[in-house]
Amino acid sequence: MAERVAVIGAGQMGNGIAHVFAQSGFDVTMIDVSADALQRGRDTIAANLDRQIKKGTLQAQDKETILGRVTTESRLEAAAGATLVIEAATENRDLKFKIFSDLDAAVSPGVILATNTSSISITEIAARTKRPDRVIGMHFMNPVPVMQLVEIIRGLATSDDTTRRVVELAKAVGKTPVEVQDYPGFVANRILMPMINEAIYCLMEGVGTAEAIDTVMKLGMNHPMGPLALADLIGLDTCQAILEVLHDGLGDPKYRPCPLLRKYVAAGWLGRKTKRGFYAY
Ligand code: NAD
Repeated sequence: MAERVAVIGAGQMGNGIAHVFAQSGFDVTMIDVSADALQRGRDTIAANLDRQIKKGTLQAQDKETILGRVTTESRLEAAAGATLVIEAATENRDLKFKIFSDLDAAVSPGVILATNTSSISITEIAARTKRPDRVIGMHFMNPVPVMQLVEIIRGLATSDDTTRRVVELAKAVGKTPVEVQDYPGFVANRILMPMINEAIYCLMEGVGTAEAIDTVMKLGMNHPMGPLALADLIGLDTCQAILEVLHDGLGDPKYRPCPLLRKYVAAGWLGRKTKRGFYAY
């Protein structure tokens, strides 16, 4: 029997993580409180597999096998039976604390509980469980089936054994793991989010249009996409949540979320997922 992984959250990251594990031969239980999100998650995996087939990176006959490895569930208890749990629910501290304390009760003590959080302290999440040595950050990048990096974040109590195991699993799904320590935003978002925030300040102050700002960064810095288009891809609510963690955790005003970002989030303009952000989709 194949090893089973449970993924909590079927949003853009959750379904991507489920996709890469299923494609690498793991059985996957994808769990979300929203039935709509589970259906959309499944549809997204199917559409992304079709894209791989069109590109010639996947055989057409493998699609149904891969989809057949993914089951969907609404209750957290369905994670029991997995040898690894990866949490990819909404970026909210209290939500993640609750999920980890519930998972700790639902899943046998030897199982590693990983979180895909972009910024929330692994040490604090781990402290909500009785197994802080088996809690770790496994930060995939968006879109998961395409991006190489997995940032592996050790909490204060994370054991060497847990780290080794998660590094092996990241490699087993074809990714390149990089180990970092637990400070707000880790490395990826500590560097990325201030750049995105500065691009939003440039937009707010009229330094340039969204197109001009993104074109400067694409053509001038060789970035594959501009910071505002990237913010729309990440989700503006997620960007705001990460900046708040950086601001609170590091106490430096340079991390304060731009008022224009807050305004977009307040309007429900969250980027691609709501079809409206700095661009219309
Ligand atoms: P999303 O909004 O697309 O999906 C979040 C999902 O979590 C939703 O489907 C929601 O229904 C579900 N959810 C909420 N509460 C839940 C619960 N109690 N149990 C199960 N499911 C629950 O968000 P996303 O972009 O997929 O982000 C998920 C996580 O991944 C966040 O921690 C985020 O910071 C992180 N992350 C995001 C990106 C990105 O580019 N968006 C990149 C790396 C990491």
